[in-house]
Amino acid sequence: MYLQKDFECMPRTNLKKLQSEKLVKEIKYVYDNVECYRKRMDEAGIKPEDIKGIEDLHKLPFSYKSDLRDYYPYGLFARPLSDIVELHASSGTTGKRIVVGYTKNDLDMWAECGARMLTSIGATNEDIIQVSYGYGLFTGGFGLHYGAEKLGLTVIPMSSGNTERQIETMIDFKATILAATPSYALYLAETAEKMGVVDKLSLKAGIFGAEPWTEEMRHQIEEKLHIKAYDIYGLTEIVGPGVAFECDCQAGMHVNEDHFILEIIDPDTLEPIEGDDKLGELVFTTIDREGAPLIRYRTRDLGFIKSSTCKCGRTFVRLSKPRGRSDDMLIIRGVNVFPSQIEEVLLQNCDRGITANYQIVVDRENNTDTLDVFVEMAPDLFADDMASIEKLQKVLVDKLRSVLGIGAKVTLVNPNSIQRSEGKAKRVIDKRKLV
Ligand code: ADP
Ligand code: ZN
Repeated sequence: MYLQKDFECMPRTNLKKLQSEKLVKEIKYVYDNVECYRKRMDEAGIKPEDIKGIEDLHKLPFSYKSDLRDYYPYGLFARPLSDIVELHASSGTTGKRIVVGYTKNDLDMWAECGARMLTSIGATNEDIIQVSYGYGLFTGGFGLHYGAEKLGLTVIPMSSGNTERQIETMIDFKATILAATPSYALYLAETAEKMGVVDKLSLKAGIFGAEPWTEEMRHQIEEKLHIKAYDIYGLTEIVGPGVAFECDCQAGMHVNEDHFILEIIDPDTLEPIEGDDKLGELVFTTIDREGAPLIRYRTRDLGFIKSSTCKCGRTFVRLSKPRGRSDDMLIIRGVNVFPSQIEEVLLQNCDRGITANYQIVVDRENNTDTLDVFVEMAPDLFADDMASIEKLQKVLVDKLRSVLGIGAKVTLVNPNSIQRSEGKAKRVIDKRKLV
C-alpha cells in the first residue's frame, strides 16, 4: 500500500530528474542564505551555477556534525526564526547536542514521510497507534505523531517511561500499532509477559528504530508481542524518523529519495561508492528542506543499498540495517568490533537460557584492552547448577571469539540486574574514553 504511488513508484529516470531539479534550486538557496555553505563553496571554487544536476553532487563540499556544533544554535538555518515553527535537538548520544529548525513546509514534508511509512506497513485510519518514543526535543515522538495524525490514525501520545502503565494503556485503548525504540519495545514485551497479559494486547505491528538492532532482536520482539516488527531509520539532522522505512517485504528500508539524496562514500578516501551491496558511509543531501538544509551530510552511519525495484513496487532504493556509526565502532586490541556483532551472537543463543539484556564493557588493564560482556540469564538457567552456567559461558566465549577474532570475557548475571532502557539503550560502556 502506498501513500503517494506517483512518487514512491516513480521510474528511476524521472526520479533522478526530479532530484536534479530540486538539487539545483536547493544549492542556490543555501548559497544565498547560509554563510557556512557560501564560504565553503567559495573556498572550493564552486558556484551554484556549476551544479546542474545530481551528476554534479560530488563536487560539493561535505558537511559534518561539527558544523552543527560550530554554528550552534541557529547559524546553519536558512530562514529567519520568524519562519521557524519548531525546534528539535539530537539526543546527544555522541557529544554536545545539535539543534535543527523546521518551517511549516518542513513539518508537512516530515509528516508526509511518516504517513508514507505507516501506510507501507498497512496502517489506516482504523488503527490506533501508541507512540512510546520520547516526546520532546528528541524527534522520535513527534515524528511518529505527525505522520500518524496526517494519515488519520488514532494517536495515543504516550511518550516513554512508566512501563506498566504503558501496557495497561495499550490494553485499555486497544492499540494496534506500537512505535518505540527496539530496546524499549523489548522491555515492554518483557513487562507484558511478567504481568501475564500478552494475550490481552491488540497489537499487530510495531515500528521501531532510532538505534541499531539486529535481525535476532527483531525475531524476539515479534515472537514475544505476536506482531510484525518494522525497521525505520532517521536522524535529527535530516528530519528524524521518516528518512527511510521498511515496507511489507522487510527487505531493506526505502529511502524517501524525492526528499533526500543518499550517497554511499568510502569514509577513508571520501570517494562515492557506486553499486549495490557495498558497505560505506551514508551521506545525505536534503533537497527540499527550508529551515535547516544539509548538503552532503556525513552521518557516520555505515550501510549499503539495493537499487532494484522492490517486490512492493517501490523504486526508492532500499537501505540495509545501518551497521552502527563508524564512530561507534570499537577498536579493541587493534581489531574493529561492532556492538551489533556481539548482539547477534548473544541473541542467537537465547534458547540456551540467556535473555536479550546485555551490556558490553571495554576497559584497559596493563596497557591491554579488555572486553567484558555481561548478559542476563533467564530464570530457568539461573535456577540451574553452576556447572551448566559455566558451560554456557564457555560456549559464548568460543562463539564470540570466532565472530570477533578476539577474546571476550562473558559473565552471566542474575535476571533483572541490567538496567532497562526506555529510549535508546546504552549497551556499551567504554571506560577507556572516561579516563
Ligand atoms: P543522536 O545522534 O544523539 O543519537 P538521533 O536521535 O538523531 O540522535 O540519532 C540518529 C542515529 O540513530 C542515526 O544516525 C543512527 O546512528 C541511529 N539510528 C536511527 N535509526 C536506526 C535504525 N533503524 N537502525 C540503526 N541505527 C539507527
Ligand atoms: Zn518495498
